[in-house]
Amino acid sequence: MKFGFDIDDTLINLREHAFQIYKKKLNQDPPLDVFHALNRVEIHEPFGLTDTEGKDMWESSLEEIYYTNCPAFPGAIETLMELNRNGHEIYYITARPKEHGERTKKWMKVQGFPVRDDHFFYGMQDNEKIHIIRKLKLDYYVDDKPAVLNTLTDDSVKLIIKDQSYNQDLEMDRVVEWAEFKELISK
Ligand SMILES: [Mg+2]
Repeated sequence: MKFGFDIDDTLINLREHAFQIYKKKLNQDPPLDVFHALNRVEIHEPFGLTDTEGKDMWESSLEEIYYTNCPAFPGAIETLMELNRNGHEIYYITARPKEHGERTKKWMKVQGFPVRDDHFFYGMQDNEKIHIIRKLKLDYYVDDKPAVLNTLTDDSVKLIIKDQSYNQDLEMDRVVEWAEFKELISK
């Protein structure tokens, strides 16, 4: 089968990693439970930043956010390795900007994710992911963002949402822990 995965906040814990970077850079210490209660993807509010300041902060920190030691979610690498071993095809579809695509691909390989060069797609907007997902005829697609998954609900691809505080309203098969993924797809 063909499995497609978003990367940020689906396979790797990017927002929380960025939250820790913001803490250091801004010399503030908002508690982690505030982070876990955020009902939007953006993380700047607990630091008292406006949306514009938050956008600037994100963009000026991007190098550090993307290419330092952002952890994969527990079990994510192992789950994809196992799918790969069992002969399934693994695709990555990330909205990371074009200029970060190849470097992100290398970074993912270094983390231990099974990456084939021609199975890695980047540089599209969230609402444009649908085109590549259709073209690839994926059996499964996993993402954290309702804005992406909602564009795909009429398609035959089976959708799975990675559980996050900002997507609780979406009713869909949900992966909370990656260790549960195998069970989820065997239903
Ligand atoms: Mg994501």
